[in-house]
Amino acid sequence: MDKERKLLIAGNWKMNKTVAEALDLVRGLKRELANVKEIDLVVCPPYTALSDVSREILDSNIRLGAQNMSENNVGAFTGEIAGVMLKEFSVRYVILGHSERRQYQKESDELVSEKARAAHSMSIKPIVCVGETLEQRESGITEEIVGGQIKGSLAGLTAEQMDETVIAYEPVWAIGTGKTATAEQAQEMHAFIRKTIAGMFDDQIAKRVRIQYGGSVKPANARELMSQPDIDGALVGGASLEVRNFSDIVKNSI
Ligand code: PEP
Repeated sequence: MDKERKLLIAGNWKMNKTVAEALDLVRGLKRELANVKEIDLVVCPPYTALSDVSREILDSNIRLGAQNMSENNVGAFTGEIAGVMLKEFSVRYVILGHSERRQYQKESDELVSEKARAAHSMSIKPIVCVGETLEQRESGITEEIVGGQIKGSLAGLTAEQMDETVIAYEPVWAIGTGKTATAEQAQEMHAFIRKTIAGMFDDQIAKRVRIQYGGSVKPANARELMSQPDIDGALVGGASLEVRNFSDIVKNSI
């Protein structure tokens, strides 16, 4: 696939996989995807498997991501994990503002932007998630919601930091539901997000930023989604938990 930006496909394993299961999965992915050079590959295991997975992918084309991090660098924040701790395992990416965290942990755009700045201070690239609910889409306020999330979650980033930031457009109604946005619906929102970023920064930065699509991406729909001009990769949940599904998504996107 001839794309303007190199695709980035990341697996969000969420709260799945013991260490042994995580190692099984990543060994399978290494085997299946060893020859992939055209696409940047990232896996985001739970914190407890970061250390072992990090060691397992040392000599591979797979990079490591985390699913969240604290906006603080150190101190009395029980249960939190700081960027400096992720760096110990060579974590390169961190998913921020996933809709599950926005919903269950009540994460706000302001908090996401603080976390994004903390990630950049550690040279970890944030994957900032945005997306509307079904109710919001049906009320015709999708652009207002997603535009607001983009502006709020990227607030305070410098141009250099924006250049090292990835966006994931994930319509909440498509996450884990088996319902995918049509390629046209996704493309329309990706173009809108790029235009919003151009307004906040400039055209060149907007042209370079990678915008992933997430929401029930499967081997069967990956090619059509990835062939849209403004879709630069995928953030994959459920289908990233099995070697076959994730590898086929990657192979079908080349
Ligand atoms: C996600 O949670 O980021 C996601 C896209 O999940 P799924 O692929 O299962 O819809």
